[in-house]
Amino acid sequence: MTTISKTITKDDIIVSGARSTGVIHIGNYFGAIRNFAKMIDDFENPSFFFIADWHALTTHQDAALLKDSVRKTLATYLGCGLDPNKSTIYLQSDVPAISELYLYLNMFAHLGELERTATFKEKIAANPNNINAGLLTYPVLMAADVLIHKGTKVPVGKDQAQHIEMIRTFSNRLNRVYKKEIFKEALAYSYSDDFVTVPSLNGSGKMSKSDDPNSAILLLDSDKDIEKKIKRAKTDTGPTEKNSPLTQEVKNLFDLMALFSNEEQITYFKNSYLDCSIRYGDLKNQLALDAIQFIRPLREQIEEYINKPNLLVEIAKSGAEKANNSANNTIEELRDTLGLTRKFLNKISN
Ligand code: ADP
Repeated sequence: MTTISKTITKDDIIVSGARSTGVIHIGNYFGAIRNFAKMIDDFENPSFFFIADWHALTTHQDAALLKDSVRKTLATYLGCGLDPNKSTIYLQSDVPAISELYLYLNMFAHLGELERTATFKEKIAANPNNINAGLLTYPVLMAADVLIHKGTKVPVGKDQAQHIEMIRTFSNRLNRVYKKEIFKEALAYSYSDDFVTVPSLNGSGKMSKSDDPNSAILLLDSDKDIEKKIKRAKTDTGPTEKNSPLTQEVKNLFDLMALFSNEEQITYFKNSYLDCSIRYGDLKNQLALDAIQFIRPLREQIEEYINKPNLLVEIAKSGAEKANNSANNTIEELRDTLGLTRKFLNKISN
């Protein structure tokens, strides 16, 4: 069962990230990054937000693209309000202890449960020619990402909720075997009762970086691109009977409107759907107008950071230093618990 926490207490440690597999889209923004920024403002708890460049390698194996995407993702975090003075912002690959913890946690992850993971099944269907072990153990690396800082609250979108349950399974198993509460339980965090899922523009499923580029609205899309993509979004032929239920494609458009448009506009178009007078062209024009108004200032802020590469390097460096301090403390404690203390003489003499 998916357990969502809506509370943060003083002992909570917040950890989350996004994969650098392309430009961040509005699904990542509303499902994750907006909440990262809000949490930093709302709570004084330690927080760690990283760019998951190792996770990107499971599906995206192009060095130049990865570099570009890492730079843009970091600029996006900052442009969306993540503050390096209040939070630790870093690249996953700058913290070697994560890979060491990943190795240990692999001993506590069972093959059957990894094979049953919904995202694994989706990813092997999408990448039949590259079903690599990294895809299978993705939830283990994600567990290492969170547990390396002893994270307890993980703001994520719905598609990641199952992974957070798996983190609890692995950490509880390790605690049980070594009879010590090394890790506390990590919970998915959401501001509302449910997770936000931003639908794809192609009529089905969630918006994703990995799909066809026209099905996702990117935070770096120009006004013209946003308009074009929304105008091309899938609809149906229109309601023929009054009070018909919404089809999936049209529901998706209303879900997008809920993110950008005001109540008055939404009610107007909902009523015109119910009385069959709706013109999808008008709805799309309104949606495009409102989406552009919302996205433009974000895009401008992100672009400002993209154009300051030295500042990005500085922020990533100081973030890595803080993240490594925290990560190394955890890994030292864990090595000791596992009987792997680095002090060779201690290891063989005790
Ligand atoms: P993608 O599927 O686009 O590659 P990531 O795996 O990098 O995205 O996910 C980064 C964060 O964005 C995660 O917390 C994920 O749950 C969230 N997220 C991704 N797509 C959506 C979506 N369409 N709606 C809501 N949240 C999403």
